[in-house]
Amino acid sequence: MENYHRKRILVTGGAGFLGSHLCERLLNEGHDVICLDNMFTGLKDNIIHLMDNHRFELIRHDVVIPIFVEVDEIYNLACPASPIHYQYNPIKTTKTSVMGAINMLGLAKRVKARILQASTSEVYGDPEIHPQTEDYWGNVNPIGFRSCYDEGKRCAETLCFDYHRENKVSIKVARIFNTYGPNMHHNDGRVVSNFIVQALKGQDITIYGDGNQSRSFCYVSEMVDAFIRFMNTDDEFTGPVNLGNPNEFTIRELAEKVIDMTGSNARIIYKPLPHDDPRQRQPDISLAKEKLGWEPQIQLAEGLEKTIAYFEQRIKDGFA
Ligand code: NAD
Ligand code: UDP
Repeated sequence: MENYHRKRILVTGGAGFLGSHLCERLLNEGHDVICLDNMFTGLKDNIIHLMDNHRFELIRHDVVIPIFVEVDEIYNLACPASPIHYQYNPIKTTKTSVMGAINMLGLAKRVKARILQASTSEVYGDPEIHPQTEDYWGNVNPIGFRSCYDEGKRCAETLCFDYHRENKVSIKVARIFNTYGPNMHHNDGRVVSNFIVQALKGQDITIYGDGNQSRSFCYVSEMVDAFIRFMNTDDEFTGPVNLGNPNEFTIRELAEKVIDMTGSNARIIYKPLPHDDPRQRQPDISLAKEKLGWEPQIQLAEGLEKTIAYFEQRIKDGFA
């Protein structure tokens, strides 16, 4: 039976970690999903189980190149998120964020689609206020190793608001804080996947710096829930809105938790802190609570349990 609310939805970066969960969730809600990805950090394995669904399409395409597709909504997630991957080709990262945003906002304007932009807590840089609220303008190094990502994402936000003011495009700017869960790439380089894979393989757990820097970790299903709630708010609510779990942990606490939960005998080693690595990060999610009625419930231990089980299986299957 035809679903009255069925929409055609474009998810750029749909084969990546967050995008693959989002595609699955949107399909489960009865929508048509077009997943666009250049497979830089995306994995076919993340979406293979969706391929048989007649409402799912995969387009191998790069967001820096314009594309025309008739859609009702766009989730613009295409961009490597791990520092290792976004610093691999920094000029390309800026192009992906900036030209990708121009192309997707241009598409949204032409086909009158609503667009959700995956922005980031990195727009706050190494924040001087804690926790971070949306009205804080940030403390970002414009010429450092992280700048291709941070400034690219900041420019993408600027573009969203200019398309909104100039062309009345319906925008939703989501500032995503550290999110983790199944479908992260085992070589992704981000802290949760690194620590779990290292612990499961009995390799040294690599803490960068002294491990006193903090992050707040949100489980992926709750982040996807926030995206969909945000997309379905009125046109007037553009964001930016912080999305993340406010429970804050030091990186050393995370390492100890992972060792404990995996029962690993891996030892912790210390490596140099990467350039411009933020000392603290914790979202103030008052706005998300008020406007989306959303607040993460999944505690770190519960989310880690599911993520550890995922990587255990990947290792058993020879993929990690
Ligand atoms: P990911 O690296 O797993 O996924 C990104 C996807 O985008 C990959 O499938 C990749 O192949 C694709 N991609 C990259 N460049 C592309 C291009 N030029 N054209 C088309 N596709 C391209 O990362 P993720 O964690 O799923 O992040 C998704 C989005 O959310 C990113 O925009 C990221 O900046 C943002 N974000 C994520 C987090 C997080 O903690 N996961 C935090 C803040 C922001
Ligand atoms: N980190 C670490 N060991 C690792 C990977 C990351 O100590 O193997 C640290 C990193 O220096 C940072 C934090 O963990 O302080 C989070 O890093 P990640 O790359 O996951 O995300 P970020 O929030 O820095 O973008």
